[in-house]
Amino acid sequence: MALILDADRVLIGRKFEEDYVVVVDEEEGKIIDIIERFESELTHIPVKSFPSGSILIPGLNDTHTHLAQYGTNLSKPGVYHFESRAELLDFIRDYIRNHQRKVYIFLGYDENRWRDEKTLTKKELDAISRDVPIIVRRVCGHKAVLNSKAIEMVGEVEGLDAGTGIAVEELPLKLSVYFPPSRQEIEEGILKAQEEALSQGITSITDITRPMHFRVYQKLHREGKLKLKVNVILYEEDMEAVSLAGFEYFFGDEHLRFSGIKIFLDGSVGAGTAAFFPDRGILTKTDEELKGLLKMATDRNLQIAAHAIGERAINQFLNVFESLFSENPLRHRIEHYEFPLPEDLDRTARLGIPVSVQPNFVHLLCHEGQMYTRKLPSEVVRRCNPYRTMEEKGIHYAFGSDNMPMDVRMMIKGAVEHPVESERLSLPEALYRFSTAGALFSFEEGIKGEIKQGQRADIVVMDEETLEPLMVMVDGEIIGE
Ligand SMILES: [Zn+2]
Repeated sequence: MALILDADRVLIGRKFEEDYVVVVDEEEGKIIDIIERFESELTHIPVKSFPSGSILIPGLNDTHTHLAQYGTNLSKPGVYHFESRAELLDFIRDYIRNHQRKVYIFLGYDENRWRDEKTLTKKELDAISRDVPIIVRRVCGHKAVLNSKAIEMVGEVEGLDAGTGIAVEELPLKLSVYFPPSRQEIEEGILKAQEEALSQGITSITDITRPMHFRVYQKLHREGKLKLKVNVILYEEDMEAVSLAGFEYFFGDEHLRFSGIKIFLDGSVGAGTAAFFPDRGILTKTDEELKGLLKMATDRNLQIAAHAIGERAINQFLNVFESLFSENPLRHRIEHYEFPLPEDLDRTARLGIPVSVQPNFVHLLCHEGQMYTRKLPSEVVRRCNPYRTMEEKGIHYAFGSDNMPMDVRMMIKGAVEHPVESERLSLPEALYRFSTAGALFSFEEGIKGEIKQGQRADIVVMDEETLEPLMVMVDGEIIGE
């Protein structure tokens, strides 16, 4: 059955067009035509009309998320909002008293918000309990504090100081490896997070995740419960296993794919580990190590997604990449790309390296008085994600939420209200970066992401003002309205 979708305006390319309607084939799950509005009156195809102020766009594509992880974490208490260390500790004490758990994990503390002491160590957590493991992870995900019982459970881990209980990088980033959730918890978590994504108009994601999550995704896909289109990227420690098993990029199908491996080149601004010139922060890999990884991945047909926030980490990736390759068929990509040097923008475009950026970080961190402006020189903050310049240089970039948070409105705001006025995008440009531009990251630009004949009918109609979806369609099937 064919169906005509008639919204006020349609996103074609990077522009809204007024006079068109979209014809979809519900069985085939494809867009079969884009016709002028007056033509729809001449056909016998049923028309679904939307109110004035509605826009029809390709399904949104979140190119960098941790959806399975996020879903699984929904059951763990968030402690971001506390404004003092004392309040946080009271909360943890009460929570443990009132909830029966094998392990207590609290997520998202931010000492920058505290008005009292700004450190948290093992000592304070031990005062609450030495019998149950307690882990409190910082909002950036790169740092956590453990009590004695939790330290005893994990033993020696790189980056964990058993004296202070403070762990950086390895353990906080892989919390679910050291304290694994059950399969049931993961499954419920993914389904919950999937609902949240779809209800905002996100129909495709790249989930940077763990094998245990990948397994659950496969189960959900077998059972027909996976409505989202998921491209999976695993972490560096799984590279060996992945290549032994023979996986290569683009393995899978339209609902569940695998593309490659995520590696870290630096840390975060909040934890002071993002790498800037001359010597601020940390580079987590030497040039030689990065070279080895890029070569190995390329030999094995795996895409590399390199986390690089500071200019020094971005610069390192480009240097090493350029020493090896002059083109980028595997679409090795940079994640975050927050503070590129102006001269590295040209190089990124020339080498054809796609970058996944997080406009929600711009919204939450880059404006006057927000965290980046307190931690970094203003000259540096002004260089954060220069969208307009990136458009002009021809860099292939797309939006990803990093699940911090997964909030469509906030992401669009981050781009259209960039603190540097000359770097702002228009609404249709921002929506293009959040939909069409993402398909290339999973090698699917000929398949989905555009309002164009022959593309999958992954379509969202939303209100232009509120960005509230009025209809969400995946493969021609309306799954929410
Ligand atoms: Zn991430």
